[in-house]
Amino acid sequence: MSKTYQIALIPGDGIGKEVIPQGRRVIEALAGKRDQRDVSFEFETFDWGADFYRKHGIMMPEDGLEQIRHKDAILFGSAGDPEVPDHITLWGLRLKICQGLDQYANVRPARILPGIDAPLKRCRPEDLDWVIVRENTEGEYAGVGGRVHQGQPIEVATDVSMMTRAGVTRILKYAFELALSRPRKRLTVVTKSNAQRHAMVMWDEIAAEVAQSYPDVTWDKELVDAATARMVMRPDSLDTIVASNLHADILSDLAAALAGSLGIAPTANLDPERRYPSMFEPIHGSAFDIMGKGLANPIGTFWSIVMMLEHLGQPAMASRLMNAIESVTADPALHTRDLGGQATTEMVSAAVCERLQS
Ligand code: ATP
Ligand code: MG
Repeated sequence: MSKTYQIALIPGDGIGKEVIPQGRRVIEALAGKRDQRDVSFEFETFDWGADFYRKHGIMMPEDGLEQIRHKDAILFGSAGDPEVPDHITLWGLRLKICQGLDQYANVRPARILPGIDAPLKRCRPEDLDWVIVRENTEGEYAGVGGRVHQGQPIEVATDVSMMTRAGVTRILKYAFELALSRPRKRLTVVTKSNAQRHAMVMWDEIAAEVAQSYPDVTWDKELVDAATARMVMRPDSLDTIVASNLHADILSDLAAALAGSLGIAPTANLDPERRYPSMFEPIHGSAFDIMGKGLANPIGTFWSIVMMLEHLGQPAMASRLMNAIESVTADPALHTRDLGGQATTEMVSAAVCERLQS
């Protein structure tokens, strides 16, 4: 049975505009294989982001969510621009999509790919194989808060971390399920309930409740500050990790760096119930310092496409692409500058496509 997937491409800003077209090229190379002709992809590109904001005063059209709601998946680059405040680019586009399409599970694998020189001397590649599950719709990024008496000595500003029983339960269930599906069946629940004595205490309680349904998962609880030290000192003691929106944001940048580079790390913003399209993106930002120079590492985008293919139910295509990626990272001549090499975005992308076609 043949299948055509509708993919929304949102390159966004900065190097997002460089890596997303390479992502499309890689998907086309995969789908062009003779034995793969029953699966095809149709793309629609949306020019949302900072340039759109300069013209229209908003990062995406009012009916933007309607335009992408019926796609099978979304491939996203990055939002951010030196001229537009970060909270506008983030809230006006990325968070709007994640929250509007209820992509409540943000999944971020970190692992040391072949050929990558990771910064921890004592860490063997097999010691670092994590998946971080980030709560993606509420918590510290719920958007609840306010600012009064702006600029006055009595100014007050608040950001309220808002957690709901329903929201916490569903992300913890997702994390336990994911842990169960991995060989080590091990989950670390990150918390800060010693200091945040309302929402994080509820988070802990719900973790213990959900755990009852997963007797085969070995789980523990770790304070977020201790978790950062543990990632560095005892990486092999971790496998699946679940944390709140802000905590996981920080931990996953650390994880990406420990695995070798921010330029490699992938993300999936999933609606596990599949009511809406899920969104896949490299973990990095728009990296204006390297824009337009051909230095952007496209591997984070390619690995995100692997996650997209898995989510779409195409595991054979996903593993073919992952093999091509690993064969490219294994060759130091194909490392971009963030990995200590001299290869360009174009060279890495061409090498991945070549391996896909051979
Ligand atoms: P954002 O606020 O959008 O998350 P950021 O300020 O955190 O952005 P990034 O854009 O993620 O920053 O970049 C952080 C650093 O990592 C920069 O020096 C950038 O050049 C480098 N970097 C990020 N992504 C890549 C990539 N794909 N290839 C090479 N270097 C990268
Ligand atoms: Mg960042």
